[in-house]
Amino acid sequence: MKKSTLYAAAPIPAAPEQLPTGPLKDFPKLAAFFEARQPETPCLAVDTDIVEAQYKALVAAVPDALCFYAIKANPARPILDRMVKLGANYDCASLNEILMVLEAGASPANVLFGNTIKKAGEIAEAHRHGVMKYACDSLVELEKIAKNAPGAKVFCRIIVSNSGAAWPLSKKFGCTEDMAREILRKAPGLGLVPYGISFHVGSQQMDVTQWRDPILRAAGLMRELAQEGIRLKALNLGGGFPARYRQPIPAVEAYGQAIVGALNEAFGEHFWPEVMLEPGRYICGDAGVIQAEVVLISPDAEDPNKRWVYLDAGKFSGLIEPESIEYRIVTEKDGDPMGPVVIAGPTCDSVDVLYENAGYELPLTLAVGDKVYLLSTGAYTTTYSAIAFNGFPPLKDYYV
Ligand SMILES: *Cc1c(COP(=O)(O)O)cnc(C)c1O
Repeated sequence: MKKSTLYAAAPIPAAPEQLPTGPLKDFPKLAAFFEARQPETPCLAVDTDIVEAQYKALVAAVPDALCFYAIKANPARPILDRMVKLGANYDCASLNEILMVLEAGASPANVLFGNTIKKAGEIAEAHRHGVMKYACDSLVELEKIAKNAPGAKVFCRIIVSNSGAAWPLSKKFGCTEDMAREILRKAPGLGLVPYGISFHVGSQQMDVTQWRDPILRAAGLMRELAQEGIRLKALNLGGGFPARYRQPIPAVEAYGQAIVGALNEAFGEHFWPEVMLEPGRYICGDAGVIQAEVVLISPDAEDPNKRWVYLDAGKFSGLIEPESIEYRIVTEKDGDPMGPVVIAGPTCDSVDVLYENAGYELPLTLAVGDKVYLLSTGAYTTTYSAIAFNGFPPLKDYYV
């Protein structure tokens, strides 16, 4: 296994004598982009070399695993182009996402229709395009797949604890092992191939040990079914690998070691099934920076020490995940004395507050018109952005 640490994998700037200083010194390409281009704010800029480095670091950390990029995290064409170049696979949630990866040059053989909630027509159309891998967690969905994608390979998603995740995904997805057994037993009779088990430990999963229990449970289920002659080929470990927000995260190697250890424990060193990963946030989160501008600063009505800092970016520019996800926020005035703030967006909706109780501080010298940078915002931002709430345009994005 590669010994490089997570961020050692980040690209070395082409012109080291021009190493930037200031808030974006760790993102030389993005600093240069903002400087040269002076784009209108708010906007997201993504360094696609960091996307590639993240992909390679994860693939190195879990050897032999197939990496299915969960494109919902950021489906921008430059990212898909880079993934195609790297030979990635794709986890798609809808027909449109499938068409996007095919359009970028991906082969349908590398696509998993991973959403457990699909319209019949979308399944049929995906099948017509040659997509053969489908996930489900109910008998109704299994029958729908059988009718619209004859001969397809099916994954059954089991429900797992999402403790340790900043952005849990449980309850809505996954079934019990009893149900999974029933679904996978029924598949052959319906003309489908029972292919694998999948799960998701929750997004921004900070606890590297969370994969162990579902891996052991899946292995037990696979053994039971094998005794009945149903031999599942694949185990899909989902996503959940983190981006670098305010709280420190374990290195990707720690995730790799915990997962490899659990797979060896569950299957023995030489008998692993085909192992799949579905990273989203990890691939593009750290590669992006949102540049926003301070529109207004005013004192809190009750606490005179506290300022409300209104940015031109908010919930409706795609920043849906705060307060669960605490972005690192930097400014040109970092180093000046700091004071407590509430950070809010510009729209006339009271939900448009990013951080009220998360203990953020910003420089006391921060003024209207100053630039503010939200780091690691390359995932789950652009596609969450509203089209035109209050007349504000959607978040613009650039790929450099
Ligand atoms: C969203 C999603 C992912 C990606 O999750 P991350 O936490 O962003 O890695 C992977 N698989 C499925 C099925 C998903 O819905």
